[in-house]
Amino acid sequence: MLSPLFALNKLSYEYQPGKRALADVTLQIMPGEKVVLLGPNGCGKSTLQKLLAGLLFATGGLLQVFGREINERTMGDKAFAAVFRQRVGFVFQNSDVQMFCSSVLDEIMFGPLAMGMTASQARQRAAELMELIGIDGLAGRLPHHLSGGEKKKVMIAAILATNPEVLLFDEPTNGLDPRTQRWMIQLLQQLQRQGKTLITATHCLELVPELADRVIVINEQHRLAADGKAIDILRDKKLLLAANVIDERYHIHAHGTDAAVHIHQEER
Ligand code: ADP
Ligand code: MG
Repeated sequence: MLSPLFALNKLSYEYQPGKRALADVTLQIMPGEKVVLLGPNGCGKSTLQKLLAGLLFATGGLLQVFGREINERTMGDKAFAAVFRQRVGFVFQNSDVQMFCSSVLDEIMFGPLAMGMTASQARQRAAELMELIGIDGLAGRLPHHLSGGEKKKVMIAAILATNPEVLLFDEPTNGLDPRTQRWMIQLLQQLQRQGKTLITATHCLELVPELADRVIVINEQHRLAADGKAIDILRDKKLLLAANVIDERYHIHAHGTDAAVHIHQEER
C-alpha cells in the first residue's frame, strides 16, 4: 500500500500571533495526485504551499512529508533537508525572488551542482532542460533582464533540473500571455502524466478542469471548505460562491466526465 507523501493534521500557520493565515487543515496527498488548491486571494494557498515545501514551519498542528515530521529541527538536519529539497520542487508565483545567478545557464546548473553532479554533467542536464522548455537561446542572459514569461520558464527549467517527484506551482499562469498560459498548462499536464505529484495553487476556477483530479478549497476563514473530486467541486455552485471563487454570473456545465467540463461566463 502506498503511504501519503503529505499528511497534514490540523495544520495551522500564523505570521503574527493570533492571526491565522491557515487554520486547522487536515488532509493527505498521495503520490501521483493532480491537486488544485483553490480559494480567493489571501485565503492561504501560498502559505500552505510554503509549508508543504518546508519554507515555513507549522505554528499549530502537524505536517509529515515522506513519513517524517517537518519542523525547524528536522529540516535543520542538512542531509534530510537536501534530499527533501531535491524531492519537492516549488515554482514561486514571483520568479524574481527565486533567481540569484548571473546567467540563465548558471541558474539552471545550480541545483544539479548542489546535488553533487560534476560541472560537465550539470551543464549537460541544463542543456536538456533548456531544450525541453524551449529557452536554448537564453543561456547567457542575465535572469533579471528577462521578460516575466521567460523568467518563469527559466525557473521551471532550474527546478526540473533536479528531477523532483513533487511539483508545487503557485498561480502558474498569472501574468502570462495566452499562448504562454496554454504552454504552461500543457507542460504541467505532461509532468503529471510522467508520474509527478502536481499541486497547483490558483484562485482561477478555469484551471481546475485542466490541472485537477482533486480540488482542495480553502475559504476566506483560511479553513478547508471542501476536498473532493474536481467534477464534484465544479458542480457545487453553492460551495464555490460561498468560498468566493466564482460570482453569480458563472454557469458551470459539467457533462459526465471531468474532461467535458465547460465554464461559461455570461454577459451581465
Ligand atoms: P493566497 O496565496 O491564498 O492569496 P497567502 O497565503 O499569500 O494567500 O496569505 C494568507 C494570509 O496571510 C493573508 O491574510 C495574507 O495577508 C497573510 N500573509 C501572507 N504573507 C504574509 C507575511 N509575509 N506576513 C504577514 N502576513 C502574511
Ligand atoms: Mg498566493
